[in-house]
Amino acid sequence: MEQKRVAVDGYTDTPLVPGSEWHVHDPYRPQPPVVTPGVAGGPPSDAVVLFDGADASAWMSAKTGDPIGWKVEAGHMEVVRGTGNIRTRAHFSDCQLHLEFATPAEVVGQGQGRGNSGVFLLGLYEVQLLDNYDNYTYADGTCGAVYGQFPPLANACRRPGEWQTYDIVFLAPRWDAEGKLVRPAQLTVFLNNVLVQHCQAAQGPTNHRVTSNYNTPHPPEGPLELQDHGDPIRFRNIWIRPLAA
Ligand code: MG
Repeated sequence: MEQKRVAVDGYTDTPLVPGSEWHVHDPYRPQPPVVTPGVAGGPPSDAVVLFDGADASAWMSAKTGDPIGWKVEAGHMEVVRGTGNIRTRAHFSDCQLHLEFATPAEVVGQGQGRGNSGVFLLGLYEVQLLDNYDNYTYADGTCGAVYGQFPPLANACRRPGEWQTYDIVFLAPRWDAEGKLVRPAQLTVFLNNVLVQHCQAAQGPTNHRVTSNYNTPHPPEGPLELQDHGDPIRFRNIWIRPLAA
């Protein structure tokens, strides 16, 4: 939508906002883009819809690139054990991500063996997805953790089988031409509207049983990946809004 640039409100006799070419309260400073929010949890008008409950064509097997082996039915998709992680065909960088998930209503196993999956930004940075409703495991592996690095600020899990929401703001790491880290990856995560990671810098791509680092530069974009950890986790309403670098 074209923005009106009629100076009816503002000032041009004020100092410049540091770091910008605009005066304080400048009436000609560009307007924020108009985005129509989604209705009842649906995607906003400018989102890239990755899964609408029926069409899984934005996804492929992470291993083979083939169409996914997960079940798609009744408005959701569900992990099928052994079919492997799935990832988006498109690549993304800095982004806002929304997805909804449900861990199995029938509780099986304990610790990391109960309702385990994961949301991998760039295919490398895992926000842990786990059934932690009355289920103990190591803190940096609980639901909402930057896996193996930072426990969530709260355990905001709903009961097994209930639909839950993840809202994630992810900033990809950047290196300079010499391979020196300029900015680490950063994650802000809401689980069921509760802040569980706040502008948290990751220590590097997430791993199991080892620490991480940024010694090996990687592209600032990559696929979004969801984990097959053997448990029948369900997903629906997945959308992403790429952010300007
Ligand atoms: Mg996991």
